[in-house]
Amino acid sequence: MADVVIIGGGISGLATAFAVEREARKQGLDISTLILEKGTRPGGKIWSRKEDGYLCEWGPNGFLDSKPWTLDLCRDTSITARLLRSNDNARKRFIFSQGRLHQLPDSAQAFFSSGLISWPGKLRLSCELLIPPRRDGHDETLADFARRRLGAEALEKLIGPMVSGVFAGDPETMSLKSCFPRIHELETEYGGLIKALFKLQKKRRLEKKSGKPVAGPSGPGGVLTSFYGGIDELISGVAGALTGEIRTQARVTGLRKEIDGFEIDLEGGRILQAVAVVSACPAYELAAMVEKMDREMARILNRIPYAPLSVVCCGFARGKIPHDLNGFGYLAVRGEKMNALGTLWDSSIFPNRAPQGCVLLRSMVGGATRPEVMEWSEEKVQTKVLEDLRTSMGIDRKPDFIRVYPHEKAIPQYLSGHGKLIDGLADRARYSPGFFFTGNAFFGVGLNDCVKAANETAAKVVDFIGHLR
Ligand SMILES: Cc1cc2nc3c(=O)[nH]c(=O)nc-3n(C[C@H](O)[C@H](O)[C@H](O)COP(=O)(O)OP(=O)(O)OC[C@H]3O[C@@H](n4cnc5c(N)ncnc54)[C@H](O)[C@@H]3O)c2cc1C
Repeated sequence: MADVVIIGGGISGLATAFAVEREARKQGLDISTLILEKGTRPGGKIWSRKEDGYLCEWGPNGFLDSKPWTLDLCRDTSITARLLRSNDNARKRFIFSQGRLHQLPDSAQAFFSSGLISWPGKLRLSCELLIPPRRDGHDETLADFARRRLGAEALEKLIGPMVSGVFAGDPETMSLKSCFPRIHELETEYGGLIKALFKLQKKRRLEKKSGKPVAGPSGPGGVLTSFYGGIDELISGVAGALTGEIRTQARVTGLRKEIDGFEIDLEGGRILQAVAVVSACPAYELAAMVEKMDREMARILNRIPYAPLSVVCCGFARGKIPHDLNGFGYLAVRGEKMNALGTLWDSSIFPNRAPQGCVLLRSMVGGATRPEVMEWSEEKVQTKVLEDLRTSMGIDRKPDFIRVYPHEKAIPQYLSGHGKLIDGLADRARYSPGFFFTGNAFFGVGLNDCVKAANETAAKVVDFIGHLR
């Protein structure tokens, strides 16, 4: 019997196991961990695939260094030396709008000279300064927030692409508070986004004068960071640092609360016991597992939808591309009749993602607003992405390398009301002491968010077991 069984071997599950072991050691407790992973490898959405000299990220291509959690995990698992910061030029991001690419303005001056937003749209956006903050606690959608504070054009050309870039989501349904809590805080703390920008700039200037460390030129967004061998070095690093076992091809089908712990059903009929269980798997998988233990919990979990997404990697000889690819890539404004949500210039972001003299482009197709794309054949997905590359960058030739990686359920969608769902889940979990949940379905989808939530969950698990001893 393991002390703690963790269901799911993605970054959330691995980081939880690592943090449980670390906390237990600190407190002088002997706590054994076991990760059960249904796939043939740990990593979940993280998978760096090396094919024909290209390094294709199946899911995420990095994490931002502006938050400490993933960097701390790298330090604690001794993989910091392998980290690779994105190129400085990759700070330049583009939006495809009105038939061409516009650089996303990164200063007030650049904003006013940019052709991305019309003059009436700029004027409307500037009026944000005059709009009083909303403090009624309502869980506003991103679209309602953007229309109220920034205007319809900013919603279309700035907020919409940002939501598809992070969540492949629909701003009309998604919760501002749950998806981008910092933006919500800026409104409530400072009275508005422009006011917040000025006050934070002033604060940074004062900090600089007083010699305190300040954020680098990359600003609050941070620098995208990965590893020489791709983001799944994070997985091998954390997995290698665990003392507990990771059991692959171990699909959990059911969970029962017993007097002194839990019984866990595995596909194939085996039953395992554990003192505590942490779910770090997708919400819909957990719903099926707990259906018999707690029907209400299953009902809540089933209300967290997932957006589908296909990742399409295209490799070309550099000399045959008419575009300079000097930047991060672009996101498309909805309504531009583009097929993909956007395309990242992966070999411009990190230097070693394509063979010498070649480039790697990675497009995202589908998302919450275009789920029908998942019905397309692989050939159709390829054709549609190549149409986009022609429209956006003038690439008028077949790639030398192309791969399509579909994710039927790619990214959980935090709809308006998500916070209440999480509260409801926490209430249900109290009926099954020793049961904990973490993972990207609940507390943020970025790798940093997953690691932070894993640390917090691990602290609760160690506390729970500590009290039993
Ligand atoms: C295409 C794409 C691009 C992304 N880009 C970025 C990015 O650049 N930066 C960033 O920070 N984030 C990005 N994300 C988000 C980030 O990758 C994910 O939110 C994060 O990896 C999720 O980790 P997780 O461990 O919570 O879940 P998962 O990775 O989904 O892991 C869950 C694990 O549970 C296992 N499992 C499921 N059911 C069972 C069961 N019944 N029994 C046992 N095991 C089970 C699964 O096999 C899986 O391994 C991206 C996501 C996608 C899809």
